[in-house]
Amino acid sequence: MKPDIHPKYQQTVIKCACGNVIEVGSTKSDISVEICSKCHPFFTGKQKLIDTAGRIERFRKKYEKFQK
Ligand SMILES: [Zn+2]
Repeated sequence: MKPDIHPKYQQTVIKCACGNVIEVGSTKSDISVEICSKCHPFFTGKQKLIDTAGRIERFRKKYEKFQK
């Protein structure tokens, strides 16, 4: 890598709305997400999330064809 052309790569944490915290290496810091691999219904198989902006409905529409 050439020096001084890459953004600084650092340890940071992604904080999810469900309370899960994921440590990652990133060029960004203090990342906040509303959904993560722990609370996402695709991974948990449960529907327990608070829908903030129709996100779950959009997700269902997008993926319902795969569940048939
Ligand atoms: Zn989460």
